[in-house]
Amino acid sequence: MKTIVVKFGGTSLASAEQIRKVADIVLADPARRFMVASAPGKRTSDDIKVTDLLYRCYDEAASGADFSGTLAQIESRYADILAGLGVEFDLASEIAVLREHLAGTPQRDYMASRGEYLNAKIIAAFLGRPFVDPAETIFFTESSALDEERTFKALGERLRALDAAVIPGFYGVLPDGTIHTFSRGGSDITGSIAAQAARADLYENWTDVSGMLSADPRVVETPHVIDHITYTELRELSYMGASVLHEDAVFPVRKAGIPINIRNTNRPGDRGTMIVPWADRTARKRVVTGVAGRKGFTSIAIEKSMMNAEIGFTARLLTILAEHGVAFEHCPSGIDTISVVVNTEAFQKARDEILIAIQKELEPDAMTVEDGLAMLAVVGRGMVYSKGTAARIFKALADANINIRMIDQGSSELNIIVGVEEHDYEEAVRAIYRAMEPLL
Ligand code: ASP
Repeated sequence: MKTIVVKFGGTSLASAEQIRKVADIVLADPARRFMVASAPGKRTSDDIKVTDLLYRCYDEAASGADFSGTLAQIESRYADILAGLGVEFDLASEIAVLREHLAGTPQRDYMASRGEYLNAKIIAAFLGRPFVDPAETIFFTESSALDEERTFKALGERLRALDAAVIPGFYGVLPDGTIHTFSRGGSDITGSIAAQAARADLYENWTDVSGMLSADPRVVETPHVIDHITYTELRELSYMGASVLHEDAVFPVRKAGIPINIRNTNRPGDRGTMIVPWADRTARKRVVTGVAGRKGFTSIAIEKSMMNAEIGFTARLLTILAEHGVAFEHCPSGIDTISVVVNTEAFQKARDEILIAIQKELEPDAMTVEDGLAMLAVVGRGMVYSKGTAARIFKALADANINIRMIDQGSSELNIIVGVEEHDYEEAVRAIYRAMEPLL
């Protein structure tokens, strides 16, 4: 039988009404056997996510303040859901456990995890499906990294023994038995791990958008939805700021070659975005998949005559950055010049030490440091087969009177990265998007 792991985000599970939509989606396809649930999210834009209420409750308890008001707010979110679903559930006992925990030595991750725990338990009762607790099936190592082997085995065995199940997202257990959470938005990772462990055919990630957009909608008006994207393209676009999934959610399914389908709970008829391990030849051929970008870069440009003949120059430069814990993002070079582009925030922490070390160890003829750069990536697996993409990008920027500060093309020809000044960023994205639209 085909197996689909479905994960629903917080807005999809924010109220009884939303949970009913989710139940319809889950029950519409018998292959949707395993469901991963987030905690109830915002019902309206000024609402508070249950996870945020739980963190607040923890902070109040840990500082000795009165937490009863916040706990009552949490209880009422679930009480509303239960009333709307008409499910029999002993909420009072669950809240009593939390109250007792908070009155003792509260644990932050344990508290945060209760949002998904309670939601998944309620949904399991509503769907009449077994509840699988990650406290028994998702393991972290002592250093809080995911214990892949142990998790894959335990969760895999548990799921294989069941026809269907509901699993709370966001948490697992440390070797000493305490609960540990992934970083925020981490239910996406649980979904991916569950898909890998269940050897699923597909991982459906249901959210409140109809897929991944080809550009940031805050910058470009109504960008279109990407129908197919490869894992590698996704990585390039996410790295450059496009967000649709938690970054770490891709690795488990990618390893297992399982495609991800991003879907919209409020528009289940939309096909969403398929994230696939391979370039799908049946999909409409596109040259460019998307455009994304980020501000907040600094470039350190170094000049030294005969640099090209000085063996180990670049290695020493990058070692200096590494020794100060700064990763380099790009490294365009000429014969006697080299620039390293770094994240300004990371660089700021050791700025003077790094510059002094470069001066002392590499003795450059000149060095210029420039903040306020933005990087823009045009990403597309089709670029390698087509001509003229770079020309279009540079012409678009020239026509918009934007000065290009850096150009970088990855060896795979999957992306073209352009550096511009931050104040030109939005206009540059729009100009490139307009020029790329026929190829998108
Ligand atoms: N509830 C958690 C958060 O708000 C995890 C998740 O929803 O993915 O970050």
